[in-house]
Amino acid sequence: MSEPTDSVLTGGCLCGAVAYRSGAPIRPPSICHCTSCRRAAGAHAVAWFTAPTAQFAFTRGAPATFRSSPPVVRSFCASCGTPLTYRHDDSPHEVDVTIGSLDDPSRVAPVAHTWMEDAASWDRPGDGRPQFAQSRAHAGD
Ligand SMILES: [Zn+2]
Ligand SMILES: [Zn+2]
Repeated sequence: MSEPTDSVLTGGCLCGAVAYRSGAPIRPPSICHCTSCRRAAGAHAVAWFTAPTAQFAFTRGAPATFRSSPPVVRSFCASCGTPLTYRHDDSPHEVDVTIGSLDDPSRVAPVAHTWMEDAASWDRPGDGRPQFAQSRAHAGD
């Protein structure tokens, strides 16, 4: 566990062109199995944490962005493709950040699986975390 005074998280993309710092998660993180995350990452699921927008900043480079649905903007490294953030127009004070892009992903542990109704037939987590058919908090991807 990190000390309260060491709550700043750092991360970045695979090639190193983009780096960021973030405040601590504001709610329990989850692993999303939705179709949009799957395609955006080229992976069966994506682990996310949510931080206050005011406590998140890119410290090196700038990501490319893509609207995966009308209210949603996803960012990624334009050079190497690492998925970095998710922002929903209805939640301008929050930003979701990929746990997999953290320098130390062990510092933020997801507690649940979301959007299992979209999961591939072979994607059946056996880790004991609760599984939800759709979202726990925000709707739409
Ligand atoms: Zn990169
Ligand atoms: Zn998703």
